[in-house]
Amino acid sequence: MALLVQKYGGTSVASIERIKQVAAKVAAAKRAGKDVVVVVSAMAGETNRLIALAQEISKLPDEREKDVLIATGEQVTVALLSLALKEIGQPARSYLGHQVRIETDNAYGKACILSIDSTKIVEALKTGEVVVIAGFQGVDENDNITTLGRGGSDTSAVALAAFLNADACEIYSDVEGVFTTDPRICPDARKLAKVSYDEMIELASTGAKVLEIRSVEFAKKFAVPVHVRSTFTELEGTWLVEEDDSMSDVLVSGVACDKNEAKITLLRVPDRPGLAAQLFGPIADAHIVVDMIIQNASEDGTTDMTFTVPKADHQKALAIVERALPAVHAKGIKVDTEIAKISVVGVGMRTHAGVAAKMFEVLAREQINIQMISTSEIKISVVIAAQHADQAVRALHDAFIR
Ligand code: ADP
Ligand code: ASP
Ligand code: MG
Repeated sequence: MALLVQKYGGTSVASIERIKQVAAKVAAAKRAGKDVVVVVSAMAGETNRLIALAQEISKLPDEREKDVLIATGEQVTVALLSLALKEIGQPARSYLGHQVRIETDNAYGKACILSIDSTKIVEALKTGEVVVIAGFQGVDENDNITTLGRGGSDTSAVALAAFLNADACEIYSDVEGVFTTDPRICPDARKLAKVSYDEMIELASTGAKVLEIRSVEFAKKFAVPVHVRSTFTELEGTWLVEEDDSMSDVLVSGVACDKNEAKITLLRVPDRPGLAAQLFGPIADAHIVVDMIIQNASEDGTTDMTFTVPKADHQKALAIVERALPAVHAKGIKVDTEIAKISVVGVGMRTHAGVAAKMFEVLAREQINIQMISTSEIKISVVIAAQHADQAVRALHDAFIR
């Protein structure tokens, strides 16, 4: 029998009424002859609420306890959805991450899935039950509860689809699929029928939060057919696929915006070998992902070193930088949390020149100052002031896609 993994995000399970709607959808798939494993997120806003509670106690909460706390959001929704399914006559069973043993490494708050024991899931499916699994959470080898990072239920779903060898992984959300840009920012955004794994990795890593980046990396690695679609319509959404020839005709397939990074600048550090290693080594050891880095050399032998990290990690990164300050002889530190990273993405950039120049022209016309730039084979990103983010997205979408 065909096996479907369906994932429902926070807005799809935001109320009892919506959970009942999801139950009806799941039961319909089961009636249509599919085996169904469902992954759910916490109710919309719940993870933020739990994080805020921890922060009322400590600015940098202990990471193990924070994971125990924020994993509870998904415990509520697996139970409620299973209850709703049973209520309409569909046998169901809920499992938390540790119960089916979704084993992860021990990087609290951003753990990576290492293995999933499918035994209990397969047994439950054989008895005709729908299996409802808590997204976003796992357990490390010492039985500590871990979480996978914001948006991590997507990764739980795709990883389950990979380990169970599912026929498809459906990601249900509050949008009809992957759009050319965030449809909430740009009303002209168009739904893409398909998007390549590589483009989606770039879009996800640059802020298109409709899919969490690791879920796309998993999907690519294990060739999981992923279908992103809306909980609230029956319309076909967007399929993640291998790149094909038709795709390189399109220069830019998406514009993304990320308002979740912060910029840290070390002022006037001596321009000498080993400095970057001294600074970024401890940051990496703390599992903080540094995104962009720029270094401006000045004439007096010192440089300003600027880099970006996820906003959620910037206090932690700052503490590390402050500790390193005497050793690197910096004259000071500046932090800016009011930034946005805007990116244009498209496999067509591999074979066409001029995208960067056009992007800078568009921003210049809008009088938007560029603070940092980075490029990859199929992406160009700039950091600008957060207040201009939406204007930049609309202008770039208009210039490249419309
Ligand atoms: P869920 O709670 O279902 O996981 P998310 O809020 O994580 O949903 O992701 C869906 C949101 O992603 C949409 O509401 C939309 O605002 C945003 N988004 C950003 N970029 C895009 C894009 N290119 N296509 C579709 N949605 C996007
Ligand atoms: N509940 C988690 C979050 O808000 C995981 C998810 O929704 O995917 O980030
Ligand atoms: Mg999400």
